[in-house]
Amino acid sequence: MSLKNRTALVTGGNSGIGLGIAQRLASEGADLVINGIVPADEGQAECDRLAAAHGVRAHYLAADLRDPAQIEGLLHQARECLGGVDILVNNAGMQHVSPIEQFPVDIWNAMLAVNLSAAFHTIRLALPGMRERGWGRIVNIASISGLRGRAGKSAYNATKHGLIGLTKSVALEMAQTNITCNAICPGWALTALVQRQVDALAQKEGLDGDEATRKLLGLRQPSGRFVTTEQIAALTAFLCSEDAQEVRGAAWTMDGGTTAA
Ligand code: NAD
Repeated sequence: MSLKNRTALVTGGNSGIGLGIAQRLASEGADLVINGIVPADEGQAECDRLAAAHGVRAHYLAADLRDPAQIEGLLHQARECLGGVDILVNNAGMQHVSPIEQFPVDIWNAMLAVNLSAAFHTIRLALPGMRERGWGRIVNIASISGLRGRAGKSAYNATKHGLIGLTKSVALEMAQTNITCNAICPGWALTALVQRQVDALAQKEGLDGDEATRKLLGLRQPSGRFVTTEQIAALTAFLCSEDAQEVRGAAWTMDGGTTAA
């Protein structure tokens, strides 16, 4: 277990990619705090399953990442629970697809807050402890939408490009330390966030679920397959390992070939 005696905070860790990452880090021996916005009993039940399965400590802390004060509270409580945060995974994210002229201003603001500003806050608050302990790993879950544009995704593209820029800058500020900061850029993975896009396409074009899935993948994923949450979690675990010490400021794609085309 390569992460035994390490501690990790995973935002948005109660579903989809974040839950996959939490499971993998726990299986490597890391003690965890999972953040989300589901009720405390629901979030803690998932943590209890992880703790029992992997023999680690796992706590759920609800915090709405649109609110910087709640992020400060989250980091404070995470340090109390774990004694420090060695690994920070900024995974929480929102998606909304709309032409810019109709893009709801409140959703734009929420997406900036959750997809980008939350990572600024968690990183600035976690770094002093990592510096004190002389070790840290920051993994930001960006997207191929941080590397290329797509009509209808102004907020998503802007925030994910911004998250990659933030990643590079933090990596350079930490370049001469044992603290690394990297981004992962997944293509489509079948989570709730993408299921909503499959459903919207099915409804718009009168397709059944399988047809809509094939059409969505055909739009831009050359493999014709979804990336899995387990694969993204495995890459996260690698970036948290000692072997990844000199991977710094990367925006690492895992996208079934999308950005190769
Ligand atoms: P998901 O909807 O299952 O996960 C999103 C998580 O973010 C949830 O746990 C949700 O509770 C949390 N979240 C949303 N708003 C929040 C808020 N205000 N405060 C706290 N937490 C909040 O979807 P997912 O696909 O697992 O997405 C995880 C990350 O992966 C996101 O950043 C997303 O942009 C990114 N991503 C997903 C895909 C994909 O194809 N699924 C591809 C590229 C990148």
